[in-house]
Order: sequence, then structure tokens, then C-alpha cells
Amino acid sequence: MPKFVYDFTEGNKDLKDLLGGKGANLAEMTNIGLPVPPGFTITTDACRYYLTHGRTPEGLDNEVAAHLEDLEQAMGRKLGDPGDPLLVSVRSGAKFSMPGMMETVLNIGLSDESVLGLAKQSGNERFAWDAYRRLIQMFGKTVLGIDGEHFEDALDGAKQAKGVASDTQLTAEDLKALVSAFKEIVAEHAKRDFPQDPRDQMDLAIKAVFESWNADRAILYRRQERIPADLGTAVNVVAMVFGNLGDDSGTGVAFTRDPGTGAQGVYGDYLQNAQGEDVVAGIRNTVPLQDLERLDKASYDQLMQIMRTLENHYKDLCDIEFTIERGKLWMLQTRVGKRTAAAAFRIAIQLVDQGLIDMDEAVNRVSGDELARLMFPRFDVSGDVTRIAKAISASPGAAVGKVVFDSAAAVAWADRGERVILVRRETNPDDLPGMIAAQGVLTSRGGKTSHAAVVARGMGKTCVCGADELTVDTRGKKFTAPGGVVVSEGDVISIDGTSGVVYLGEVPVVASNVVQYFEGTLAPDNDELVAAVHRIMTRADEARRLGVHANADNGPDCARARRFGATGVGLVRTEHMFLGERRQLVERLILAGTDEQRQAALDALEPLQRGDFEEILEAMDGYPVTIRLIDPPLHEFLPDLTDLSVKVALAGDDATEHDRQLLEAVRRLHEQNPMLGLRGVRLVLLIPGLLDMQVRAIAAAAAELTKAGRDPRPEIMIPLTATVQEMEISRERAEKVLQAVAAETGVHDEIPIGTMIEVPRAALTAGEIARSAEFFSFGTNDLTQMTWGFSRDDVEGAFFSPYIDMGIFGVSPFETIDADGVGRLVRIATEEGRATRPGLHIGVCGEHGGDPASVWFFNEVGLDYVSCSPFRVPIARLEAGRAAIVSAGSDTR
Ligand code: ADP
Ligand code: MG
Ligand code: MG
Repeated sequence: MPKFVYDFTEGNKDLKDLLGGKGANLAEMTNIGLPVPPGFTITTDACRYYLTHGRTPEGLDNEVAAHLEDLEQAMGRKLGDPGDPLLVSVRSGAKFSMPGMMETVLNIGLSDESVLGLAKQSGNERFAWDAYRRLIQMFGKTVLGIDGEHFEDALDGAKQAKGVASDTQLTAEDLKALVSAFKEIVAEHAKRDFPQDPRDQMDLAIKAVFESWNADRAILYRRQERIPADLGTAVNVVAMVFGNLGDDSGTGVAFTRDPGTGAQGVYGDYLQNAQGEDVVAGIRNTVPLQDLERLDKASYDQLMQIMRTLENHYKDLCDIEFTIERGKLWMLQTRVGKRTAAAAFRIAIQLVDQGLIDMDEAVNRVSGDELARLMFPRFDVSGDVTRIAKAISASPGAAVGKVVFDSAAAVAWADRGERVILVRRETNPDDLPGMIAAQGVLTSRGGKTSHAAVVARGMGKTCVCGADELTVDTRGKKFTAPGGVVVSEGDVISIDGTSGVVYLGEVPVVASNVVQYFEGTLAPDNDELVAAVHRIMTRADEARRLGVHANADNGPDCARARRFGATGVGLVRTEHMFLGERRQLVERLILAGTDEQRQAALDALEPLQRGDFEEILEAMDGYPVTIRLIDPPLHEFLPDLTDLSVKVALAGDDATEHDRQLLEAVRRLHEQNPMLGLRGVRLVLLIPGLLDMQVRAIAAAAAELTKAGRDPRPEIMIPLTATVQEMEISRERAEKVLQAVAAETGVHDEIPIGTMIEVPRAALTAGEIARSAEFFSFGTNDLTQMTWGFSRDDVEGAFFSPYIDMGIFGVSPFETIDADGVGRLVRIATEEGRATRPGLHIGVCGEHGGDPASVWFFNEVGLDYVSCSPFRVPIARLEAGRAAIVSAGSDTR
């Protein structure tokens, strides 16, 4: 028979799956000898059984009865005994702490009879009736599902009638009357009486906890946080201790160190003569924990000692809940506490220096997401700033701009060079152009998975959402902040997507210290946080197996990538070099009627390309630079079909010959699905001379640098290959050019020729393709689009937010690699490519290369490197280090 109930003496902190976080840690504290009231935990197994079968598993009742008996024996009292009742709390506790689960019910075991016994035993009638009214209130609200306001209104009514401000000023008589009122509320709204049998109370509460696993809010939270839906929750039954027995009693919460900075010290709040929920509810004002030293020195000293014990035991910052009952301290909860990104780095290093953890563990205690948070530019709020709202920090960054209230205005204003913040109640796909044009997005509705939040995160755009303190009047082109502040179109605001704060006016923006450190302009030893980042990055770099390259198209970006720790460029997009003034040359190439005209256009482009490559190769001297030949459809370099048609039509007979030709070319090149049309290797093979020109520019640039004593390491990458034949023809042509350049210059640089793997067919025939390709680089953006059959630009703004809400994916597959689908193709191509060509060098150059979860995946699959935007390079380095440390740990285990 499986075991469904564990006494606190039987569990430990590693049993979170079975006992939930709260139960596992209560057991741990019990076992290291801390004063925890006795109790037991009903497992998540029992919850899962209940949720699938609609009833509790056989044997659970008896097990609970047996553990209750033990508890009663330990306490010398019986649950709900009329003369001297034992009371318990029933507390939910899943593996991950989760809002939306059932709230704790305290004081279970009280009834019309036992309340008298409690009064007598405690010698405090007021306390007993206070405990009873709390039970009916909490039980009514959480177990019976009655709207809490009914109880709160009755309580307020009682205070008003009495003319007092605080519940502590109500007398036993007042509370007795309140109990009657509360019981009537129960009868009226739950259509049943408040249960008088203590075991009934307990069983109903336990079932209610099980059921709360599937409460709407809990389901939503799990989806957002990607917590599996089938974990279930445990239930803890704990003997009550009372913080509301008078001024020598109380309750509080504390952190073992400052969760904002990591500094060691006394951080917490205490409330005299109160039960636990009063602290959080903010019913009365708490006092700082330091004051406890004055109020109850013995308990304070003991608490400090316990906090040290917990830190040494958990080797981490812990947060705790405690209660003092007539001078006796009880621990009611602990867990490894949440902290800010900066504190995470500082604490990890502080713990290393205290000898509690080693550097590998320190690297594991922080994350790339936290590092990213430390790298966003931040507002300098040291001067005079006016805060007008605080809402949900949906997508980090610091954005300043003039307020506009619709997408068209955002686009129009941005086109004339204004920086704008798009303010909406909520956004929808029609707002996309405005979101792209804006510096940041502010909405008054919606949470972390709202359209605005999902799209902004995907674009890396600053976003604050759900600012419900703001009344947004899009028609009137203004919004109103608390206190009557009116902000109209054109007024400047600043939004902080990292903290969710909105400021009136322009707040100055500064580069974060951590970025200054990566840039090399701030020494690591001048700042505790930067020093911590430095030490952790150093260890991550030693540990990691994956190389980290950057995607960069010009010298300055390459130089920054190098400063940020990139040891190569994984993707140079050559088409970025054909924009601006050079666009005309591309136009000439496309319009060329004869071979001579075409060659003339190519000849004009070649020296420009060579210059680009020289700059890049020089900046990355000694490191590989993977240059992708031109990839996008040619019409991207031509004017828009509609615009041009209108122009030519309006001009009539006066239309220029050039415009007519252009229109003809645009019509000719027009494609229904350009993403699936003439682009990538197809273009390279079908527009004669393009490949030759680009390869010659690369080889000549390299030869030039080699002659100058430098160490250029270009690699030529063919885009969008689907079949080995494409690769073979491209290779042959490229080799011919390379030989020609070598003959001309007398320099014989080794220039490998490889391909991008970004079409499913290429992944599935990678074994073939590897015969001709000397390296692979996964273009996971296109590979994701083609594997899922949707285009990022079309779908991300259109339906990703409902898809996430429906739980179809937890996160956009463009943010984190879809390991099961797209990832499977990566795995197949890697294995089969290397089977053909052992040691085949393989990387990834999609944006996934800078995404933490994806980096772990690529490490596991055995790629050689990831490549990402220069700013993501440190994040990829850190995560590659963490992945290596964890996988090394699991090998030896
Ligand atoms: P949450 O998960 O919301 O923190 P808890 O189960 O920790 O819920 O309980 C809510 C409050 O009740 C906390 O302040 C807790 O310390 C207090 N509490 C829980 N069980 C007991 C108990 N047996 N005796 C006294 N206070 C308790
Ligand atoms: Mg708690
Ligand atoms: Mg591509």
C-alpha cells in the first residue's frame, strides 16, 4: 500500500516533488532541530489521485487518522476537544510556490463548544473568540468559496459600531457577536451551516486544497511560468501556535539577508498580537524586525541564531515565517528566497567567500536572464524624477519618448525622427507597425502574456503593461495618472521595462555598470556587483565547452563582440551591405539587359564589398568569420510594387524610361511567397556573377590582410541549401574563384566553404550535404519558420499571444528552440553530418544562439559554438558554462 502521509520527522528538503516546497522544508527544519510545531504532510501523489479519480485514495483516511492521533499525543490534546482543543492549520504547498492556490486555513478544530474550552484553557476569552471568527472567515472564504467581502464588511461594521480603528480593540463580546454574524453569512451564501465537527472541517479543507490546484488563477500562473500542470499540491496539517495571545506574542517574516542587495543584516517585519495572515494583509502596520530586540530580546536572539543556522544549512539566502507564542519562538516556514538579479550575483560570490559554496555552484546560482537584466541601460533616477505609475515589467529596457495613442501616429512621428512611446489600453495585431516604430510600449491592461508583452519581448522592445492606475483615453489622446496628472499626445514620458515604473518627462539613461565592465571601461574591482560578475564569468569561461561567436556585419559591431568575449563571427549578413547608397548598384545589377551591363554593376560593387570584409576580418583578426553569401529575394532591393505602379500610372506618358524598366523588373521578380522563392543559394546559382563577385571580394580582402602580416580567417557560407547538388555547384564555382585570386595575389589562404542548414530537407539529407560542405551552421530562424510552416513576421504579432494563453506553447519557438521538432532536425543533421565528415565544425547562427534554454540544448546536442548578437554574447558564455558544469556533474553522479 503506498504511503500518502509523512510526519515532519520523516521528510526532508529534497522531497519537494512528493511533499511540496513547504512540507519538505518544514521537515528539514524539524530534522535540524529547529522549533517547528509538529505536523504532517499529505503527498502530491494523494492530490494527483484525487484529481484523476474524483475521490481520495483508499487508505488515506486511516493514514490521516493515525498521524492525527500521533499529533494529538505529542500535543497532549485532541483535535477540537470541547474542554481543551488541539487546533491545526491546513496549508497548501506545491513544489513551486504558486499564487492562486488555496489560502491557508488557521484554527481548524474550533466549534461553538470548543471555543469555550480554548477560552478557559488560555485564560483569554477574547483570544478564543478572535480565533473562532478567523476560522469561520477563512474557512468560509477559501473552503466554501464565499466572497471574502461579506466577512470584511461585517468586521468593518463591528469596528464602526464600536468606533474603533483596529480589530485588536474589539472585545470578547464584540467578537462573539461577530461569530454569529459570520455564521449567518455562511448559512446564507454557502447554503449550509458552518461544520461543527473538527474532522469534517479538516477533511473539507484538505479536499479544497486538492481542488485548488485547478483554480483558474493557478492554471493561468502555471502556463505563464511553464510549471507542469500535473504536479499536484501537497497539504500540510500543522499544530497551531498563537501569535494573537497578547503583547508577548506576535508573528513575522524575515530574510536572512537583503534580497535587494545581498547585504547581511536583519531584514523583516514583525507584528505584535497577531496571526500570520495579518502581516501580509497589511491590516495593521508592522514594525521593523530590529524592534523585536527591544520587545522580546530572548526570542530575537534565538531568531538570529536560527537564521544563521538556516543560511549555513541551505547555503543560501532563506526567507522565513515565524510566530512567537507568549515568548516562545516557533518556525512556520522557510525556503530559499527570491532575490533581484544584482543580489543573485552578489550573494553567490559572498557565499563563495564565506566558504559555503564553490565557484561552480556560484555559476549555477545565477542565470543568463539575470545577467541580461544587469545589462539593460537603466534610468539614472538620482536626480528629480516624477513617478506616475508602477505596473507589470513585461519586456526590459529603458525607453523615453513622446506619447502617442495609435499605431499610425507612432509610425508618422517616428518617420519624422521623433522618439515615441505607444500608449494603448491593450494592443492587437493592427498595432504592430506602431510597436515597431516606437521606442517602447505602455498598456493599461493585460499581463505578461498579453499581445503587447509577447510581441515586445519578441522584438526586444521595452514594454510596461497592465498599468491599471492609468486611465487611457485613446480618442481624447490623453491618459490620466493617479493624482489627476494628465498626459497628452506629444508629452514626454519614460518607461522602465525592468521595474515596470513609468515616469513623467525625460529621465536620463546610462549604460549599466556591467556593460561598462564588458566594454572594458570599468575595472572589475571598483564595484561589488561587477566584481561578482567578473568572477562568475571567468569561471563560466573556464568550464564551458561551447564556443561563443557573434552575428555582426561591420567593424564596430565585431569589435564590440570581441570585447564582450566572442571568439568569432558566426554570421556576416552580406545583404546588409547593399543598402543605402549601394542600393542603386544592386538595382543596376537587376535591371542589366546585357552581360556587359551586369558585369559593370558587379565590378562597381566588388571593391565596396572588399572594403567591408577587410574591416570585419581586421576587427576579428585570428578568429573565424563566417560570411554568408547574399540571401534575401532581390525584390527587397527594389521599390514597392504598388508604390511604383501608382507612380508610373500617374506620370502617364511622362514616366521615365528608368521607372518603366524598374516597374517591369519589379513585376517580373514579384513572388507570391518571397520567403519560399528565388533567394539564398537559388539566387547565387541563377544570377551569374554574384557568387563570383562576393567570393573574390572575400578572398582578396583576406589576401590583402595576410600580406600585411595579419591573420584573417574567413569562411564562405552558402545560404538556404536544400540539396547536395546545390552545394556542389556553388562549391565548384567558389573554388574556381579562390584559385584565381590565389594565382593573382600569390596568397594561398585556407578558406573553408560550408553551408547553412535552415531548410528541413537539408537537415534530413545532412549526411549527403556534408560530403561537399566543410562546416554547418544552423539558421534556426528559417528552420523554425519552415518546420512550423509559419512566417515569424506574419504570425508573432497575429496569434502568438492567444496561442500562449491556450497553452499550445509556453514560449514562442522563435525565442526558445522547439527541442522536440526543430531541435530534432538539428540533432539528426549533426549526427548524420558528422557520420560523413568526422569532426565537422557545427554552429548555430539564429537568434536562439543567445537564448539560455536553447544554449543548453545546443550544448547537449554537441554543437561546437553558438552565435548571437554582440549584446547576448556574455549571456551565451554564462549559460554555456552553466550547462557544462551541470552536465559534468551529472556524468560523475
Ligand atoms: P502562504 O503560503 O500564503 O504563506 P502559509 O501556509 O504559510 O500560507 O500560512 C499563512 C500564514 O499563517 C503564515 O503567516 C503562516 O506563518 C501562518 N500559519 C500557518 N500555519 C500556522 C500554524 N500552525 N500556527 C500559526 N500560524 C500558522
Ligand atoms: Mg507562508
Ligand atoms: Mg535564413
